[in-house]
Amino acid sequence: AKEDGRGGYRMFEDGMNARMQARRTLELDLRRAIARQEFELHYQPQVDARSGRYDGAEALIRWHHPAHGLVSPAQFIPLAEETGLINAIGEWVLRTACAEARSWPDHLTVAVNLSPVQFRDVRLVAMIRSILAEAGLPGSRLEIEITEGTLMQDEERTFAVLGELRADGIRISMDDFGTGYSSLSTLHRFPFDKIKIDQSFVRRVPHDRDSVAIVRAIATLGASLGIKTTAEGVETDRQARFIAEEGCDQIQGYLVSRPVPAARIAVLFRDPRPL
Ligand code: C2E
Ligand code: CA
Ligand code: CA
Ligand code: CA
Repeated sequence: AKEDGRGGYRMFEDGMNARMQARRTLELDLRRAIARQEFELHYQPQVDARSGRYDGAEALIRWHHPAHGLVSPAQFIPLAEETGLINAIGEWVLRTACAEARSWPDHLTVAVNLSPVQFRDVRLVAMIRSILAEAGLPGSRLEIEITEGTLMQDEERTFAVLGELRADGIRISMDDFGTGYSSLSTLHRFPFDKIKIDQSFVRRVPHDRDSVAIVRAIATLGASLGIKTTAEGVETDRQARFIAEEGCDQIQGYLVSRPVPAARIAVLFRDPRPL
């Protein structure tokens, strides 16, 4: 019913307009954010579960909005994807992450999240190659994190693109594994280098039986397929111990560190054994 007899319809309409207006404003702000240098990358360390040493870090974008303060990527990435702005933003992320990782110790990798939308751009591989060359970073030090969403569109082309990147030494990670439609056949059809076990499961170990079973199954699967596994969202010592006992290769989460600015990650990397 559009009319509830008490002006409900009008209120609903005003609410819609207000939301659409706010969205349009956000979109305009987002368009200007790169030029105005409002984006920054934070880095969250990834630690080898067995040795307790750093393997590298994941780049996570931050937007310092002049009026709204810090806006979370969960809020603006979807809008950036709908408007296509993610292509420019994603290119900025790659360029900045590769440039900043250049000064890290040689054995450390930088992981960058790629949106499904970026895979629709036929220039993606050329763009990544030129960014690596420009930064002087070998492909082996870059990791690309993709989600199920990326594989759900034109799988053949996506696999071809991933294959080209992989031939350059770039590692490919399956992010948020266990959520959405991640299927076992996906792992069988493409040689992923890493599976990231979604934090919704990691958060509930070792107390929740189902989560224990899921984490254990993914760790076993990774080990038997020769794919590295990373547990995301590790917050406690108990979770870290469980993860290591299950044979996961890598730990990422607040236990080691929250995502931190570039200057701070360089300092963290001086600690030879954070865990
Ligand atoms: P994600 O790729 O799954 O990144 C992990 C998220 O979990 C990050 O949130 C991180 O700060 C958070 N996290 C890490 N450890 C813990 C923990 O121990 N406990 C809890 N509660 N949370 C933890 P963030 O930075 O807000 O990013 C959210 C999502 O936004 C990312 O999820 C990713 O999908 C997207 N995103 C972030 N940066 C980029 C980017 O540069 N490009 C694209 N396309 N997406 C990005
Ligand atoms: Ca990620
Ligand atoms: Ca994730
Ligand atoms: Ca290892």
